[in-house]
Amino acid sequence: MRGESVVVVGAGQAGCQVAVSLREQGHRGSITLVGDEQAAPYQRPPLTKAYLAGETDLAGLVLRQDSYYADHGIQVVTGERVIGVDRSARVVVLGCARTIGYDHLVFATGARPRPLPVPGAEHVLNLRTVADADVIRQKLEGRTGLDVVVIGGGFIGLEFAAVVRKLRHEVTVVETQPRVMQRAVSEATARHLTNRHRREGVQVLTGTGVAAVREGFVELTDGTVLVADLVVAGIGVIPNAEIAQRSGLACDDGIVVDAHLRTVDPRVHAIGDCARFARPLSGGLVRLESVQNAVDQAGCVAAAILGSAEPYTALPWFWSDQYDVKLQIAGLTDGHDRTVTVGDPAQGKFSVFCFRGDRLLGVEAYNRPVDFLMARRLMDSGATLTPEIVGRPGFDLRLSLQQAA
Ligand code: NDP
Repeated sequence: MRGESVVVVGAGQAGCQVAVSLREQGHRGSITLVGDEQAAPYQRPPLTKAYLAGETDLAGLVLRQDSYYADHGIQVVTGERVIGVDRSARVVVLGCARTIGYDHLVFATGARPRPLPVPGAEHVLNLRTVADADVIRQKLEGRTGLDVVVIGGGFIGLEFAAVVRKLRHEVTVVETQPRVMQRAVSEATARHLTNRHRREGVQVLTGTGVAAVREGFVELTDGTVLVADLVVAGIGVIPNAEIAQRSGLACDDGIVVDAHLRTVDPRVHAIGDCARFARPLSGGLVRLESVQNAVDQAGCVAAAILGSAEPYTALPWFWSDQYDVKLQIAGLTDGHDRTVTVGDPAQGKFSVFCFRGDRLLGVEAYNRPVDFLMARRLMDSGATLTPEIVGRPGFDLRLSLQQAA
């Protein structure tokens, strides 16, 4: 088993981590990591934060130094796209026509920005890659007071808005849903985030979409016309599943895998943003776009390639930094029907416990990092809380955690 070859398609956080985890877990066969970006594998989260603000450069983002890959026998092929996979011959085909054979194949192909479906979309920039961030940085460099329109009030839109506002530009966020981060967080957390942005001078427009974009202008569906020196969209992503689909694997909003992150072909796994995996706790298939998911799924698949039969069960978690707000989310709060808030919302320090019926789905900690850590430990332990317990005067999460231990 240990001398088998592994090819990883996609050199983002998930792809890089599966290579690293394989070596850490003792894999002795060859590992080839193929990515279509020019840069060596790097972290994406700082792109909407420190990198955009000019506080770090690409060297500060790389996940491993070049010497790491050389020292650990990991072949990294950058600037090359995999264009096909022949599963019966067990080879991947690169754009340059080179082929690479494999015993195990891991799809870690990530996702790409969803295009804005309106006339004039060619005037709109995305923020997914370091190349995207460089284009935006150049437009902002040495200037202040530009009119910046951000389309989409999700993670990317709001983090981008916060940084650009700090760089002293005029910012408007346009979100089609009635509130920002509709799917990612509860109404209470979204309201506090919106207010925080408004206090900073960001105009947040919800319940309205974009009808068209023209050079220098954005026309909204309600007839408003916004002046725009720069338009950036963060309206969600599309998983890169086409190569897997063409190779005959099941795909449906991502590459479909089981609870072991395995496709129907036992030699092929999929991880990270591109993988739609069976999650019994969610009652079906889910696709998660987060660093935690990429890293933990990579570790799980590395172990599977080395013979482990453990399913993927890691608790999802997320974070977002906007101004001085540190939002940390343990669990998946989407689909909740009850919330209980603890802490001090007026001071901007609170946690929202999200339930479906009596079942705790997750906890959103807004400037309460200790709550986040304890909630993760509690949920990891399998213990749970009810709305009644959390709503009691004097509720103490630390005590609940001790009782669960
Ligand atoms: P998100 O899904 O977080 O948010 C996109 C938002 O834009 C949604 O509310 C969406 O609404 C809305 N939207 C869709 N179409 C339009 C439109 N035409 N006009 C205005 N609003 C629209 O996606 P992002 O692009 O912000 O981020 C991409 C992924 O990257 C996310 O899944 C996120 O998890 C990940 N990411 C994570 C970060 C973190 O964890 N801190 C930071 C940055 C990115 P609807 O629901 O109707 O589609």
